[in-house]
Amino acid sequence: KAEAAGTGTAHSGGFEIPLDMGFLYGETGDEPEFSVEFRDISYRGSLEQELSALRENYVLLAETATDVILQIDGSLEILFANSAVIRIFGYEREEVERQHLGSLFAPGPFSQYEEILKRYFVIDDADRKESGLLSTLEILGQRKDGEFIPLEISLGNSRGIGDNRILTCIVRDISLRKKAERRLKYLAYHDKLTSLGNRDRFHETLNRVLEGISNGEGRYAALLYLDLDGFKKVNDSMGHEIGDVILKACAGRLSNCLREGDQVYRIQLEDIFRVGGDEFTILLPVINDPEDAAIVANRVIGSITQPFSIDGWGSISNVSLGVSIGIAVVPKDGEDGTTLLRNADTAMYRAKERGNSFRFFTEDMNSKAIERVMIEEGLRGALSKEELTLVYHPIVDERGDINSFEALVRWNHPERGLISPDGFIQIAEDTGLIIPMGKWILMTACRHLKMLHERGFGSLQVSVNVSPMQLQEENMGETVRGILEKEEISPSSVILELTETAIMNNPDMAIAKMEDIKRINQGIRIAIDDFGTGYSSLSYLSLFPVDHLKVDKSFVMNLDRGNNSKITRTIISLGQNLGLKVVAEGVETAEQAGFLRDKGCHYFQGNLFSVPLRFEALEELLSRESPYAGEINPR
Ligand code: C2E
Ligand code: MG
Ligand code: MG
Repeated sequence: KAEAAGTGTAHSGGFEIPLDMGFLYGETGDEPEFSVEFRDISYRGSLEQELSALRENYVLLAETATDVILQIDGSLEILFANSAVIRIFGYEREEVERQHLGSLFAPGPFSQYEEILKRYFVIDDADRKESGLLSTLEILGQRKDGEFIPLEISLGNSRGIGDNRILTCIVRDISLRKKAERRLKYLAYHDKLTSLGNRDRFHETLNRVLEGISNGEGRYAALLYLDLDGFKKVNDSMGHEIGDVILKACAGRLSNCLREGDQVYRIQLEDIFRVGGDEFTILLPVINDPEDAAIVANRVIGSITQPFSIDGWGSISNVSLGVSIGIAVVPKDGEDGTTLLRNADTAMYRAKERGNSFRFFTEDMNSKAIERVMIEEGLRGALSKEELTLVYHPIVDERGDINSFEALVRWNHPERGLISPDGFIQIAEDTGLIIPMGKWILMTACRHLKMLHERGFGSLQVSVNVSPMQLQEENMGETVRGILEKEEISPSSVILELTETAIMNNPDMAIAKMEDIKRINQGIRIAIDDFGTGYSSLSYLSLFPVDHLKVDKSFVMNLDRGNNSKITRTIISLGQNLGLKVVAEGVETAEQAGFLRDKGCHYFQGNLFSVPLRFEALEELLSRESPYAGEINPR
């Protein structure tokens, strides 16, 4: 038995057909047998055509793509590149084919990826997740001209062709995307107005610095917390547009004054942040000595206090600001961001008390801050728990008759006993609690006055302290009227005391408010309290719609020292010349009373006559006839 095979052509009805032929030779018995098998293979031609059409299509597809398409073999040699490689890499495709893939990438980063790339040849797409392989990689490419470009490579499945496995990669230029990402990140971490890092950036940087510190022994870092003094006033009075210009100028000054020069410490722009409206922070990541932070703080103060003249706003020159700085030192004042920030902030508040200065944080400040928080919390409930009381300080006239009394608030704290107003009025101001508290004070004082009127002391008046925040309230005049009407007290029996400092804070506003109060409450009187401690200008003083001038007790109590007697004399005659009644507070001795009376002072208040009294004690005192007749006779 034998076999053979061959090809041939046959003619069938005039067509030529390609044939496959098989020959079979055998013997059955003595007879040789020979058979031929024909197979029509005309279909093969169309397959080949189809294949080449397909191939063309793929090449076309590859050429149309704007991304680079590469096929590489297991030794990372490039077998195929589409012509986009000229656009992205600057190479002709012929230049890269047969080259190592590494020639298209920055050598450093590529060497890290080489081993990883090889794994794509053995692990298929479906199994990549498990083996921790990503289907795309970001890697730095290098163009023919040497320039680096960020690239993203998508990796297909590798296919075996002959003995080789081939991996197809699509390489995309992602420089635009990277740029957009960088821009987004920048926007998220920077303040638009000043271009300084923002609060988020600050926290991020602070944490990085703290990590560095905890790793390095004996190193210091410092955090400076800055808050501008007087910015709010500028912003409110000149408008936000100018406020913005000033903030920008401040940021510029900070970065300039800290970066230039031969100072101990040179600060990077990246270590200055704007963390709030007019609040900035500066990080000193490494300092040799906490004193270095003081040097930096002084430099900042020197730079910010220079007057600002604003370009393009001709009329505005010489805007002056100050800055208060709190300093917390790492690790002494905290080793985590929250503690440090809180402590620097506390120190800043202490610096603010003096204004335009810096303070290092101390533990003692913390206990003061804790104390403050406790007072603040207690104060919230004080009114509803009826812990507030009023005491009354008699004010007598030249004859020693009690003419009026000043209502002074006290807080009967459940644990701490009686707290004087100096310990909580400011906090009530800061928290806004002064508004309901002030109403209660006026109401209670009027209620007591009414009782005294009804008992036959019809000419008595009450003097009530009004704090700056109450004055700023929209409808203070109406509030006062409401209370007086309800308590049936005539406005002419009431004197409102405003401190000189509160009025001078914003004189124009204060004048408008005072006029408003007087218009709505015809006959009510206003006194300037603590006169002599603020800085009234004489021109303003004549414009104030006030009736009384209260000489501050610090002059009266110390009449025999320094220039106090001269100052007191001057204030009295100033009041007289302006047609105001002058009240001296803090009268403790008969000598003081005599002196004041000689100089023409109208009213006297002080411990010489009485300490502040509870209502019942005041009532009792009033029932005595001219209790102080002898006290203020001229000597
Ligand atoms: P002020 O309005 O100047 O009140 C006068 C303060 O001087 C009172 O202190 C009074 O007791 C004290 N004083 C007057 N004469 C003498 C004296 O001869 N010797 C001594 N040693 N002291 C004298 P007080 O009650 O501690 O009040 C302090 C400040 O607290 C007040 O100063 C006022 O600014 C504020 N204040 C008190 N009560 C109220 C209130 O009801 N509302 C507001 N907003 N502030 C209040
Ligand atoms: Mg007063
Ligand atoms: Mg006073």
